[in-house]
Amino acid sequence: MSDTLLEVTALRTWIDTGEAPVRAVDAVDLTLARGETLALLGESGSGKSITALSLLRLLPENAQVIGGHVTLEGSDLLSLPERAMRSVRGPRVAMVFQEPMLSLNPVLRIGEQVEEVLRTHGKASDRSARRARVIELLQAVGLPDAQRRCEDYPFQLSGGMRQRVMIALALAGEPDLLVGDEPTTALDVTIQAQVLELLRSLQRSRGMAMLLITHDLGVVAQTAQRVAVMYAGEIVEVAPVAQFLRGPAHPYSRKLFDSLPERGDRTSPLAVIRGAVPPLVAQFAGCRFADRCDHAFARCTVEAPALRAFAGERSVRCHLPEATVAAAMVGPVPSAATASAVRAA
Ligand code: SF4
Repeated sequence: MSDTLLEVTALRTWIDTGEAPVRAVDAVDLTLARGETLALLGESGSGKSITALSLLRLLPENAQVIGGHVTLEGSDLLSLPERAMRSVRGPRVAMVFQEPMLSLNPVLRIGEQVEEVLRTHGKASDRSARRARVIELLQAVGLPDAQRRCEDYPFQLSGGMRQRVMIALALAGEPDLLVGDEPTTALDVTIQAQVLELLRSLQRSRGMAMLLITHDLGVVAQTAQRVAVMYAGEIVEVAPVAQFLRGPAHPYSRKLFDSLPERGDRTSPLAVIRGAVPPLVAQFAGCRFADRCDHAFARCTVEAPALRAFAGERSVRCHLPEATVAAAMVGPVPSAATASAVRAA
């Protein structure tokens, strides 16, 4: 039996801006196995968050999925009636957003909010069982003095505590898949490390899969087994994390690494990726990275590259021959920041 939990094929999501539609997600393919963590890595505006919101059909009003399939264990989420979709969100797939204050109800005590999820999804038989489970969940996410904190409103908690409550809310439905959209970006580094460790340990104990959206290579190294890099609405590289951290193959992925700061070196200027992400309102004739790529050649501007299988379970969207990419990967010794990420992987 296949252990594939989630399969996304040719997903296309457009955003209506009143003028030409923005092709925010353009033919994205992804798979996720049970218990696996896949990191979706890329700059702001690359399409990561819109991809995640498309999976759960939680898009803003001006955005629409215009093609593709999102299959969760054989069931196409994009064609389910909204009523059936409500029983997917929470018990099958839960989401943790970057900013908990936008997701928590400001006028309900946090204990009541977690209890409401348990009641909605029938996860505890009566009031006292639900109350006990609320405390258990808040303790599991490391909220100090959980019994007393149940009576607090969100504004009475620190940012780190609110994010833990968001994770408890997501876990209350005992989902098969947790989608985290930059779940630790707003936290300081100490709390971030604690929350990532918490997610890893909860994942191990529950066999839950995670789709982790991030722009942070350190988070990728600490958390994921595979990484998919997004650029301008497309996946440009998919690779096992350890291989990726030792030598990213796509020229854009390489540039992401080159722009990492050297630890302890505060004098050298940071490397930047010249140019800007192209506007996503036009059809592209060639590679979307061509204007910024140091390796671009004639074919790159007239023919869009397909995602091709490379050695070592990698896929790379580039016209360069695999041998040329491999040679380019034997570049300078990784920066201190990258090296520590590689060690952590
Ligand atoms: Fe660079 Fe060409 Fe590869 Fe695009 S296809 S990443 S422009 S070499």
